[in-house]
Amino acid sequence: MKAVAVFPGSREVKVIEQAEPRISEPGQVLLQMLDVGICGTDKEICTFEYGTPPPGDDYLVIGHESLAEVVAVGSAVERLRAGDLVVPSVRRPCPHPGCLACRSGHQDYCYTGDFSERGIKEAHGYMAKYVVEHERHLNLVPPDLREIAVLAEPLTIAEKALGQVSWMMRQRPPWLDPETPGEERGRGLSALVLGIGPVGLLGAMVLVSAGFTTYVYSREVPPHPRIDLVAAIGATYISTQAATFADLADQAGNLDLIYEAVGHSHFALEALRVLGTNGIFVLTGVPGLQAFIEADPARLMRDMVLKNQVLLGTVNAGTDAFASALRNLDHFRRRWPEAVQTLIAGRYPPEQATELVLGRPPGIKTVIAF
Ligand SMILES: [Zn+2]
Ligand SMILES: [Zn+2]
Repeated sequence: MKAVAVFPGSREVKVIEQAEPRISEPGQVLLQMLDVGICGTDKEICTFEYGTPPPGDDYLVIGHESLAEVVAVGSAVERLRAGDLVVPSVRRPCPHPGCLACRSGHQDYCYTGDFSERGIKEAHGYMAKYVVEHERHLNLVPPDLREIAVLAEPLTIAEKALGQVSWMMRQRPPWLDPETPGEERGRGLSALVLGIGPVGLLGAMVLVSAGFTTYVYSREVPPHPRIDLVAAIGATYISTQAATFADLADQAGNLDLIYEAVGHSHFALEALRVLGTNGIFVLTGVPGLQAFIEADPARLMRDMVLKNQVLLGTVNAGTDAFASALRNLDHFRRRWPEAVQTLIAGRYPPEQATELVLGRPPGIKTVIAF
């Protein structure tokens, strides 16, 4: 079968032929991969900045954003059967008995760093025709979401973040009546999304859905399909070319939530200066090494203390975030049918994966289809 693999030693990315995997434990499921999304992490792996093959292998099969169909199940599998659609999660627990996070099924909060991640760190990924995975790592997908469920994994970033933000909002007296339904937790509040890559756009959709008055700030200028998408979901786009952070804060009023999805440290620090009173700042981007910059830590620290601000970093996601991502995809599909259509730019065969990962893929989310 075909798989797309990176060879860090020889610095190659290519389609390889591999033996088809087989079920070897009763709890396992054989999957045929349908869609595998390409993202910035894949790009970093294929330019050898990141990514580690499994122990003993000189290559790593890439791909972590996926949708698959169940082909066969082991004798102990209870929830799934052939024909079901599933989205696999990415991170697998570390082996340490003392890691409370991994031992309780919350490996996205792993303390030790010795977790593995399919397609990223010490475990092969999903950009292959067939994959075997344990039932516990598979999230059942309603058939109606066949066309867009590959977006579930990138959407979990926003879902995990918003899950924590909601929890904090409920603990902070001026914000939210505990009776406010979860779907309306952003009612009357303003949110700012930094960046219009897939993570930013999906984050904006989650925030608008939760009732936040949502602004999106990025360097692109109109006309641009991603800017059209921001408008289509009812958020307000502001270009860095047209307005400074100060202008933005004047327009938006108190910024209760800033959701960073750029991975640029200087930009994030600038944004922190306009975070509102009692505001929460969520960082999701992982910056590469960037030039040393001058900062004003005293001012940032004063603001954070005097305005009760929260700075929250978030990575990966757990089962709850996958469940809410799938629920929200269904909501997005009904609420913004046309906008959701434009999220997936196209589906391409695995033979084109190398050029798509290394080049500038067209549109918003590029998918390899098996
Ligand atoms: Zn990704
Ligand atoms: Zn752990």
